[in-house]
Amino acid sequence: MKIFTIKKNLQQHLQQIKASDKTIGFVPTMGALHQGHLSLIEQAQQNNDEIVCSIFVNPSQFNDPKDLEKYPRTIEADTKLLEQAKCDVLFNPPVNEIYDDNEQWHLNIGEMESLLEGKSRPGHYQGVTQVVYKLFNIVQPDTAFFGQKDYQQFLIISKMVEALKLPVKLVMCPIMRETDGLAMSSRNVHLSADDRQHALVLSRTLNWVKNNFDSAHIPQLKKEAELNVRNEPGVELDYFEIADGNTLHPADQNTKNIIALVAAKVGKTRLIDNVLLVHRP
Ligand code: AMP
Repeated sequence: MKIFTIKKNLQQHLQQIKASDKTIGFVPTMGALHQGHLSLIEQAQQNNDEIVCSIFVNPSQFNDPKDLEKYPRTIEADTKLLEQAKCDVLFNPPVNEIYDDNEQWHLNIGEMESLLEGKSRPGHYQGVTQVVYKLFNIVQPDTAFFGQKDYQQFLIISKMVEALKLPVKLVMCPIMRETDGLAMSSRNVHLSADDRQHALVLSRTLNWVKNNFDSAHIPQLKKEAELNVRNEPGVELDYFEIADGNTLHPADQNTKNIIALVAAKVGKTRLIDNVLLVHRP
């Protein structure tokens, strides 16, 4: 695996790859890699010739400086995992390789910016679009792979790609879970043994909603789900929403694509998860 920290060097390498008519698949991450990230690499390998994974903990998407500071950084273990996964390129730039001082960014993402995750984390999606735009410009991938785990992020990046007419195809990959159902996340390392048990309420409740789903009873299902999460010790519910999978507005009987999304603090760690309920093309 080739490792680059300087964008110019990465671009030189990728120019050679492109000159030989190979396609580039891109998996942007913040590191502390787990099987969820590796599933994106695998999917990318099935679709593209040269796979680039980036590891960059993006300061501009953290609205809480403590959260940024606490974010797990495990570059040595990550590098080994990527080698084992036969990833071709790792791009691991320092912050000053991506950002100049006092850089400004604002993208009109519409109201989705202030819903759900956007409401709880003001400015988060401006930071996400800022860094993904920069990374797309550097890597110029044919296809980029993202997880359904960050469903709202996928919708927002899709909007950006459409609005700015970026020449990249986006692929959304399924959520990888631990055997007991907990969605894999870099943040799970912060969970104590007790937190780890209490955190299961999220996937359990999403599954319960999926198994009992009936579009005529969305408000009742949402209420019971909220209650269920709230009743779990050590868990502080942020939101549980049964939403339109395209707009993230609350779903009703006529909604074509429906998704249940949850965010909660488990101990000191904020976790998110979701499950698709109805998908009608
Ligand atoms: P992160 O490093 O958390 O920014 O995540 C990088 C990419 O991995 C994003 O596209 C995430 O949606 C995706 N991802 C994170 N966790 C999972 C998971 N459990 N299953 C599948 N993809 C995931």
